[in-house]
Amino acid sequence: MANQNDKNEKKAQEGGGQSRPRQGRRGGARRTPQPAAESGERSAPNPQQPGQGQRTRSLLPKAPATGDAGQPAAQITAPGRQSRRGRKAKAQILADQPVNGRLTQKAEPPANYRPKGREKPKAEQPEDNQNRGKSRSGRQKAQSLLATQVAEALAEEAAAPRPRRERQPAGREKQAGAGRAERPAPVAVAGDPDARVRIIPLGGLGEVGKNITVFESAGESFIVDCGMTFPDESMPGVDLVLPDFTYVIENRERVKGIFITHGHEDHIGGLPFLLKQEKFPVYATMLTMGLIENKLREHNLLGRVQLHVVKPGDVIRLSKNAIEYINVNHSIPDACALAIHTPAGVIVHTGDFKVDFTPIRGDIIDLARFGELGRKGVLALLSDSTNAERPGSTMSERTVGESFDKLFASAAEKRILVATFSSNVHRVQQIVDAAVKYGRKVAVQGRSMENVINKALEIGYLDIPSGILINIDSAGKYQYGQIVIITTGSQGEPMSALTRMAMGDHRKVTVGPSDCIIISASPIPGNEKLVTRVINELLKLGAEVVYEKMYDIHVSGHACQDEQKMMLALTRPRFFMPMHGEFKHLKKHAETAYSMGLSPKNVVIGDVGRVVELTAGGMKPGENVPAGKVLVDGLGVGDVGSVVLRDRKHLAQDGLIVVVTTVEGETGRILSGPDIVSRGFVYVRESEEMIARAKAIAKDIIEKNAQYGAREYGALRQRVRDELSDYFWQVTKRSPMILPVVQEIRG
Ligand SMILES: [Zn+2]
Ligand SMILES: [Zn+2]
Repeated sequence: MANQNDKNEKKAQEGGGQSRPRQGRRGGARRTPQPAAESGERSAPNPQQPGQGQRTRSLLPKAPATGDAGQPAAQITAPGRQSRRGRKAKAQILADQPVNGRLTQKAEPPANYRPKGREKPKAEQPEDNQNRGKSRSGRQKAQSLLATQVAEALAEEAAAPRPRRERQPAGREKQAGAGRAERPAPVAVAGDPDARVRIIPLGGLGEVGKNITVFESAGESFIVDCGMTFPDESMPGVDLVLPDFTYVIENRERVKGIFITHGHEDHIGGLPFLLKQEKFPVYATMLTMGLIENKLREHNLLGRVQLHVVKPGDVIRLSKNAIEYINVNHSIPDACALAIHTPAGVIVHTGDFKVDFTPIRGDIIDLARFGELGRKGVLALLSDSTNAERPGSTMSERTVGESFDKLFASAAEKRILVATFSSNVHRVQQIVDAAVKYGRKVAVQGRSMENVINKALEIGYLDIPSGILINIDSAGKYQYGQIVIITTGSQGEPMSALTRMAMGDHRKVTVGPSDCIIISASPIPGNEKLVTRVINELLKLGAEVVYEKMYDIHVSGHACQDEQKMMLALTRPRFFMPMHGEFKHLKKHAETAYSMGLSPKNVVIGDVGRVVELTAGGMKPGENVPAGKVLVDGLGVGDVGSVVLRDRKHLAQDGLIVVVTTVEGETGRILSGPDIVSRGFVYVRESEEMIARAKAIAKDIIEKNAQYGAREYGALRQRVRDELSDYFWQVTKRSPMILPVVQEIRG
């Protein structure tokens, strides 16, 4: 289990970095100032280290988040600082598209307050109007107007009378027991009691990887994440595993968009394959979108799909639902949770998250927003279960930097190589920071590492002082003690740069006793042997190798139990559904929820393809829809099924025998053969006797077949297969795959 978290991380090729707490936010990507996020930012320790002072790279950019014109995107700016009420109020919406065609970035005074959960909906109308009256410009007016429309849609959720309000507290109290009496009373969920949401996980439950969840609410549908996973040993020759998109494609007219939480492969890897079938608009944060663009380019889809860059605090309005992005911490920058505002109530989907109070860049997870949602009433929480078995909290990414510092200090004259996940931009930043501090240059090896670093530099998520990055070809100009090489291959992947170095097969890097190699990752379950092999080979070459457990050179990107509890405590959901994990993780996470007072009847452990029906009054499993694994082998998607897999396993275990016979079409008489070809079964020349005997058996069957005048070659082939199978089993105790080929020649 300990490695579960890493599984996702790997599955995802990492990338990305977040904003640095000092010099203010990166322009574009930052969310509207929110009090809590602000203070969090300020309190984050400043990562200044010697040499870090003058960054040549500015963090800043360019207008971020621009929605494509023509796309109905809207934004809710976070509650501004201007008004205390505003802070309490629900985020307000500024519909952007009709106004100026892009997502609005600026904080605007709230155009619409939402009452606290308990207030009656009516009360907010006058406020609305007042507020609208304050608009100072035409644009603002237009925005306010649109905001009102959107707000009305959202207000349904806040508004509707809810008969079940009283039930909820009562139920919880019972659960909570005396010890928890001081807990604040749960807030009634504001929602239309008749509204219904269908949550349909098509991947990511009961497994780690290929996360994708479909939501259906008020006649429209939207998808959260679209990942892939890597094959396990039961799938020889398979490159990727995708979710089954059948259900999505069957319901394509209703799908309003795909909302991506972050850029790991288990959340974006399936996108090109789905978008090939249907061009749904995609919403994602800046780094996430950069990684998505790389994929779409590879699949020749770039420019053919609407891509909308969003930032934390943005809200995308659909006709009856709205999706709000909320900043979280994770092992890739720009990760977000989603608050899904539906007529039935608010659903919080955490995506992958952890709580890092001292992030390398960017904001601390927006705990305030989760708390605010919780105060107003969250209908359901869907939360990351990856580390549900681990007590306590995940360590801050910053602890890794401290380890790097020690290791760099002790490496002295040695060349340092660090292998890590390419998507972990924060990790890369810390390696660079240590390099700068100890006067080393940095070279990068591995295509995915280069891609992600370039993207992160381009959008200002990575600060590398000029002159630090060097091409590996010019590394020869420096002493070993002046070089750091950042490389891929932390999972022992056979084709990766680190593995090739270990095998003495890398064109540019030869490893020896003057190298200190740091593997800054944990092996994902299933990769332990590969990693061990690489470590052994590196050690044989005389290198010093630092890996897991020797130092804190890796931390997880996922919440442990205390952080999961924090999320439950802040959002105070009426219903809970653990997500993202194998069954044991989901179960454990559910138990954590019970321990905090949730009733088991308010918790659903879902399964892939099983619809979860959610209303204000209940959450329960419903019918099944098509779902499962689609295997990708080379260019073929879905053409490798269970039969093909079975054959591959069979071939891998026992080899293949092909029996080729040419017969006369009219009579079935043998014209030539049978000839026997063996692959991976026995060495034919050393088994001549056995092969000759096998030929005789086949010949006998085919001749008898001809005598009886039978022309049914299907049955004939089956008989040859059965008899030879028996024979080979007797002689060798093996069961090769047998392929009888009967070639018919008609004169
Ligand atoms: Zn994940
Ligand atoms: Zn992730």
